[in-house]
Amino acid sequence: MAALPTIAEFADGVRAGDRAMLARAITLVESAKGEHAAAAQELVQQLLPAAGKAHRIGITGVPGVGKSTAIDRLGANLLAAGHRVAVLAVDPSSTRSGGSILGDKTRMARLGRSGQAFIRPSPTSGTLGGVARKTREAMVLVEAAGFDVVIVETVGVGQSEAAVAGMVDFFLVLLLAGAGDDLQGIKRGIIEIADMIAITKADGDNVARAMKALATFQGALAILRPGSADWAPPVITISAQANRGLDELWAKIVEHRDRMTASGAFAAKRRAQAATWMHDLLQERLLAALYSDAALGRRIDELEEDVAAGKRTPALAVAELLAMLGLVRQGLGSAP
Ligand code: GDP
Repeated sequence: MAALPTIAEFADGVRAGDRAMLARAITLVESAKGEHAAAAQELVQQLLPAAGKAHRIGITGVPGVGKSTAIDRLGANLLAAGHRVAVLAVDPSSTRSGGSILGDKTRMARLGRSGQAFIRPSPTSGTLGGVARKTREAMVLVEAAGFDVVIVETVGVGQSEAAVAGMVDFFLVLLLAGAGDDLQGIKRGIIEIADMIAITKADGDNVARAMKALATFQGALAILRPGSADWAPPVITISAQANRGLDELWAKIVEHRDRMTASGAFAAKRRAQAATWMHDLLQERLLAALYSDAALGRRIDELEEDVAAGKRTPALAVAELLAMLGLVRQGLGSAP
């Protein structure tokens, strides 16, 4: 492999919008190698002032709901309107399979061909927390490279939706009409974090089903998600295949941003997300430090045995581990 560029070279390249450099910078940020960690953090820190100007959109839905088709079509519409679009993916299952389907160029043919779009599949190593961190950092890099719309795609696996909703300005849930019909088959909690629901594939024979689903979800949302003074999450139908409803979809996303900006909620959410990012990172690093230490690792196994056998309380076990980490002065290791 060619020698790694310096941090300054990376930063200049990314800021100049050099896509090859951007791709390598994201690889650096995703690297699990300890020797890359310091350089990656320095790079993200240097690029942070150039980031933050993009509109960040999260999109989720089960496999087959039409995510890639919708993102490809929406993205192409946005490119035609002069935007630069980056697609990132959060897919914790890719860390088990070692391969990522989400954010795959071949699934998004229009965007994949465009010089104004950038598509990055999900990192294929790490826990959900690790994948989410890498995606947040990749977001800083693509924003610094001048992409003004960042779409973070995820699939409904575990807590990935909540992780993505926590890093974007707008969270869009795609649902397929007739798949289990009405509210069944919809993951609990997903409605509560949706800023909008779009019923996909509203074309051909599907139109009637889509309209029925529209009414069902409008009713459900009115109950489950009363909305704030700023925003009541709408439900719409789209057909990515026929390019119908996507202009309306984007208009809603822009309307949401405008209203949230006017009320101050937009900036407040960004600030809160940055703080959460720090806390997530703290947890991730603490856990990594804990589990990477051989002596601690052995002790964790022993304590786990004791706790499982009812010989020791979980709280006492945790207090001992924190003390071993040197984190806790006497008396502070006890549970709150
Ligand atoms: P993903 O797994 O969520 O990314 O779903 P895809 O975008 O790959 O779509 C799954 C299947 O649904 C593919 O065969 C698409 O061609 C089809 N599909 C996607 N969008 C539409 C649509 O708007 N209308 C119809 N009829 N089919 C669609």
